[in-house]
Amino acid sequence: MSCSTFVAYAAQAPGAPLEPTTCETPPLQDDEVRVEVTHCGVCHTDVHGVDGDFGVFGFPMVPGHEIVGRVTELGPAVSGLSIGQQVGIGWQGRCCGRCEWCRAGDEHLCLRIADCGSWTPTGGFGSSVVVDGGFAYPVPADMAPEDAAVLMCAGIAVYAPLRRYAAGSSTRVGVVGIGGLGHLAIQFAAALGCEVTALSSSPGKEEEARALGADHFLLTTDQGAMEEKEFGFDLLLCTGQSGHDWGNLVMILTKNGRLVLPAFAPIELPLVGGPGSGPIVDFVAHQVSITGSFLGNRADMSRMLAFAGEHHIRPLIEPMPMAQVNEAMLRVRRNEARYRVVLVNE
Ligand SMILES: [Zn+2]
Ligand SMILES: [Zn+2]
Repeated sequence: MSCSTFVAYAAQAPGAPLEPTTCETPPLQDDEVRVEVTHCGVCHTDVHGVDGDFGVFGFPMVPGHEIVGRVTELGPAVSGLSIGQQVGIGWQGRCCGRCEWCRAGDEHLCLRIADCGSWTPTGGFGSSVVVDGGFAYPVPADMAPEDAAVLMCAGIAVYAPLRRYAAGSSTRVGVVGIGGLGHLAIQFAAALGCEVTALSSSPGKEEEARALGADHFLLTTDQGAMEEKEFGFDLLLCTGQSGHDWGNLVMILTKNGRLVLPAFAPIELPLVGGPGSGPIVDFVAHQVSITGSFLGNRADMSRMLAFAGEHHIRPLIEPMPMAQVNEAMLRVRRNEARYRVVLVNE
């Protein structure tokens, strides 16, 4: 049996620091599992969460949705999991199960998604979480728990759109931004057989991008090099949070090309250009699509974990003790993590 309380790091209000907080252990519903958290990655969405962005986060809030731990308690309706099993949990911890999207197997598009976060009632920045058993995924036997943790959000965020729009071909994929998502996107795209270009404003990232599997490197601040790649990409995955030159990205997409947004980057297509030119004209005349992409469904999650294990896709991580959660959040806020901080419960 579980104890009646546990400790988690909670923000009491938007913008407040995370403080160790004693929480009541929530009762377990029939279809839920309780998981003792061993590892939790820090995602930029956790920063949005404690800042109170997007209007979907209630306070006090315990963030953390790149979770790995061991099952400690199983509801009677849960099947396929056992006590002591190592599982990963991502952004989504449950779904309504009744809406058209859930019934079609696209649970990540659930009409009640705002109520389905794995941080409800408390997320992974603590010692224990409770989620629906269908959203706890067995970690492949030969995968390190700290690696699996990062794949639960950053991994699925890039794998699902690559598989949907670029798999099984020599699709010319550009990964824009080499960070938490980007460094995994390069590996997934290469393993899917794409021709991969890493795009970055930092020339210092070229060597690492190539080591991760990029065939080419394109410096986004080199306007001449960008213009040489006009119509050069079938798909661009914009992994960074900000700083993209959207006009340039539209320019380097081929006709019918696709700009995929797996992160919450504020997009801005300037209307002004020279007469008869400018990004909005190219956007329309080249039939470019902008596609939002939100994680993946449960089948995608299982496929992603198996694919990552098979192709030895591993995040580059900085482990930190759970007690240093505020320092970890600051590293992520400042884009200093190389490339993902994973908090470890000692
Ligand atoms: Zn995330
Ligand atoms: Zn639903």
